[in-house]
Amino acid sequence: MKVLKFGGSSVANATRMSGVLDIVENAASADRTVLVSSAISGCTDSLIETGRLAAAGDLSYVAVIDALRDKHSRIISRLFSGEDLEAVSSTLHGFFAELKALADEIFAAKDITDARKEQIQTFGELLSTSILAAKLASEKYRVKWLDSRDLVVRNDEKTTYARIAKAVAGHPEVRIFVAPGFVARNKEGHICTLGRGGSDYSAALYAAALGADCVEIWTDVPGIMTSNPKVVPAAVTIPKMSYEAALNMAEHGAKVLYAPTVAPAMAAGIAINIRNSFDPAHPGTMIEKLPRRDVCEWIGVSNMPAGDNERITLTAEGPIDVEAAHNRTVAALKDAGIVPVGTGSEPGCITIDVRPGVAKEACRAVHKEFFEFARPSVVELYVAGHGAVGTALEKFINSGRATGNGKQVHLAAISSDHDFAAKVLATAPRHSVFADCTDSKEIFKYYVPLLEAGINIVSSNRRSLAVPYVEYAAMKRAAMRNGCFFRYDTTVGTALPMLESISSGANSVDGLVSIEAVVSCTLNHIITGYDGANTESFATLLHKAQKAGLTEHDPRTDLGGKDALRKLLILAREAGVPLEEEDVEITPMLPKEFFDCSLEDFYIRLEASEPEFIRREAELDAIEKRQRFVASLTRDPSAKGGYKAEIKMQLVGIESPFYWISGTENVTIIRSETSAPLVIKGAGEGARQAAAGVLNDILK
Ligand code: ASP
Ligand code: MG
Repeated sequence: MKVLKFGGSSVANATRMSGVLDIVENAASADRTVLVSSAISGCTDSLIETGRLAAAGDLSYVAVIDALRDKHSRIISRLFSGEDLEAVSSTLHGFFAELKALADEIFAAKDITDARKEQIQTFGELLSTSILAAKLASEKYRVKWLDSRDLVVRNDEKTTYARIAKAVAGHPEVRIFVAPGFVARNKEGHICTLGRGGSDYSAALYAAALGADCVEIWTDVPGIMTSNPKVVPAAVTIPKMSYEAALNMAEHGAKVLYAPTVAPAMAAGIAINIRNSFDPAHPGTMIEKLPRRDVCEWIGVSNMPAGDNERITLTAEGPIDVEAAHNRTVAALKDAGIVPVGTGSEPGCITIDVRPGVAKEACRAVHKEFFEFARPSVVELYVAGHGAVGTALEKFINSGRATGNGKQVHLAAISSDHDFAAKVLATAPRHSVFADCTDSKEIFKYYVPLLEAGINIVSSNRRSLAVPYVEYAAMKRAAMRNGCFFRYDTTVGTALPMLESISSGANSVDGLVSIEAVVSCTLNHIITGYDGANTESFATLLHKAQKAGLTEHDPRTDLGGKDALRKLLILAREAGVPLEEEDVEITPMLPKEFFDCSLEDFYIRLEASEPEFIRREAELDAIEKRQRFVASLTRDPSAKGGYKAEIKMQLVGIESPFYWISGTENVTIIRSETSAPLVIKGAGEGARQAAAGVLNDILK
């Protein structure tokens, strides 16, 4: 059974109603369906006004009723003709007669009792659903209009469920049930409402009574958004959230969902899907039971009056560090020139009270801080590492080339001092950028604190990323939690769009079959430069590369596969595979004895092996094969985490893109289930390229 609920703006006129009917018919083609609807927009307000005027002895209540009658007549005259029109017209006529009689009674008594006040509001839903039911019936569906006044007992879910279940069970032939939302009866037997916005709650009751998997709430925005889009234009849809977070937002001013709706759905384990009837293809927001989180993720900002002030609420999934969140919020508000008048917290959210006049601006400032990447036009940049990459970066900036995306980079400081990161942490302003252009293996420890301080990070230092997975995950989380960017595209393939291609779209973990990479520039340079026929020996080539800064300080780090290992870790993690160093099987390029000696002895041994290398090259040439040092991640259900990771020499033939690498080129082949292999090839080396890549990450 499906339950679909439509709000007032979804049924505002004949065109909108036709749209609703398309959605309902589509649902009904898959399963039996209950359609719950609100009154057409503005109708409930008019009914309240009718009661108020009548009670005040003001005869103009008649005109208000007439206007409502006209509105409904116009709708049906567009939707129906002939006999169908007559039939629906007479149903509406009956309701209007009842409405008029009730209003007359109020007028005569000059008093609107609580009971009448509620009853008069119920006509809107009775009218709108009568039209919808009649239209579906005229289209030859087996339809039944359910009278919620007889089924829904306010504050008595048990009886409500039993009555709804019975009413539906009595009509196995019916494909579509249509029920008015909002209306009910109280325990004393009087007709009543479920409170303003209560149709959502009606729908949840129908869904729970009938054991639906999901209740769809169709409204006029694409789901629950990170904030009210009318206040915060940058708000975006929250694709998925827990019942608790949805309840928090609904209770703290997010009008898209009526808060009481959550409880029955949650108790029955029914997902709530908030959809946009103006854009039926949009998946909207799914509210459901989510696994407990141990990390805080901010979900949305809402606002509502609180006494004389306006309360801004920031809702999260998972545990909140209240103090840190308050500090960050207050800092963001201060940047916008707003001083809060109070702060507070409740489970799952923090609150900040501001003066009503600045509420909207405060919402925008908080939203910007937590949900939009800060985009200051001048980026304050702190560069750690004044080596080759840092120097190249400095040159770019000084030559005025560090602009893009409306941003301009200002080099605040550059240094190789070992305490530079600590200094940046202590002094750099929020939203500035820390670029790690070092090759330090310690500096990563500053990443989380920097991110926590609101400082963005760009890194070309792959050591910082090839840390144990928990550390890596902590950095990613810190970036997310603090709304900072954390980019390290240059750590693999330098300026090639390697990580981007992996994390985006079709290649992400579901469909990933394998990643194979020849990513070590050094080795490429040497391996491809060496063909056994050169005048220069392998040892000489390697030594030259070392001196040119193409290898690690000790080139054996490269030969041993360490550098490839780091890159493979980064690639795998980017694809969503939490690979650890020890999961990777490495076969070094050279036997063990080359590694257990001094660097000098190493070169001597290498030189001595030259004849052997020459022989091997000749052999391979004869069979048209080449040796490549390949790092690979391959789907393998028997491996830990579902992927097998290896680094080893492979013989490749002319059919392989790896055969054709020259110089310091990198080649990565990404295979996924869904598309043809993606081959990324290009220059993967050089301080200038790295600096350009870092700059690109900063300006993205
Ligand atoms: N029509 C009612 C209201 O305007 C109930 C609803 O729309 O959910 O409050
Ligand atoms: Mg509503």
